[in-house]
Amino acid sequence: MAHKVALIRGDGTGPELVAAVEKIFKAAKVEIDWVDVEAGLKCVEAGKPIVPDETIATIKEIGVGLKGPMTTPIGKGSVSPNVTLRKKLDLYACVRPVRSLPGVVTPFDNLDIVIFRENTEDLYAQIEYMATDQVAHSVKLISKFSTERISRAAFEYARANNRKKVVCVHKANIMKVGDGLFLRTFQEVAKEYPEIESWDNIVDNQCMQLVLRWKIYDMLVLPNLYGDIVSDLAAGMMGGLGVAPGANYGTNCAVFEAVHGSAPKYTGLDKVNPTALLLSGTLMLDHLGEHDARKNIEGALEATLTKGIKTYDLGGSAKLSEFTDAICSELK
Ligand code: NAD
Repeated sequence: MAHKVALIRGDGTGPELVAAVEKIFKAAKVEIDWVDVEAGLKCVEAGKPIVPDETIATIKEIGVGLKGPMTTPIGKGSVSPNVTLRKKLDLYACVRPVRSLPGVVTPFDNLDIVIFRENTEDLYAQIEYMATDQVAHSVKLISKFSTERISRAAFEYARANNRKKVVCVHKANIMKVGDGLFLRTFQEVAKEYPEIESWDNIVDNQCMQLVLRWKIYDMLVLPNLYGDIVSDLAAGMMGGLGVAPGANYGTNCAVFEAVHGSAPKYTGLDKVNPTALLLSGTLMLDHLGEHDARKNIEGALEATLTKGIKTYDLGGSAKLSEFTDAICSELK
């Protein structure tokens, strides 16, 4: 029976990337019943909320979603549709696997790290106001509840996936209260998993450590903002935003999306790399229990990259459509 999946096509390059993933899934004969739901700029232009209530209700009912990137106006305008979706669906764990891909040469060989980013709090709680007409306050919200569940999700993942080391990333030397709570809570949860090695690093040091000693890292757990920034750093180490996948898990539903944004300047140019969204889609296949389909699609992607067929961001000349067709022709 076909799996029902809610589909947000997104803004900018989102719709063309989603179409590429749909085409590859169809060629791989994965039975998905895509249910289109609306969110993003199109909704705002039509006078609707950026994420309409029907969209939230449909994703909740179906339980699984795939999402193209959405544009957030900078410094003004509506709230982020991405943050809204994560908060309204309580998608508290943002999981970003970072691994070397065959055929994608970077200075960072054998990269294999999984990032667990807390997805609902920190400065992304969007509690901001002007304290006076000259001074802005942005509230950094860290709770024991949310830190406990992201830490536990990370340790459970480590146990289930035979990962050996989990590192908490923070800035508790400066933010002794907020990041101090994050670190202490992580350490309490870590005691429940004595077979898994754990330690902590200050976020600035962690960035340097990742670039110099990436092979010693296995899993990282971070509050929302550091998780966002370190994910992009790690995406760069993997080959760029065009190849970095992600997943957002809650208690009752999961939404899969690339790390990257809507790359609006490339809209309609048939140029961007679908790898990140495709690998987010294969994470979704695993979630749905379609492990053979995941292997088939990832094998076809890797064969394509190994043959040197690549989009511009990886130094190649293939268009998005050519790269997509090449993957389809490698499917078993
Ligand atoms: P971006 O990730 O959209 O793009 C930054 C650069 O990365 C691009 O200019 C391009 O060079 C490269 N890039 C990104 N995706 C690529 C792909 N698939 N293939 C090849 N190259 C790719 O970041 P931005 O320009 O800072 O943000 C654009 C918009 O996206 C903003 O409105 C931002 O808020 C939003 N955004 C959305 C999400 C999301 O939907 N989850 C995430 C990040 C940013």
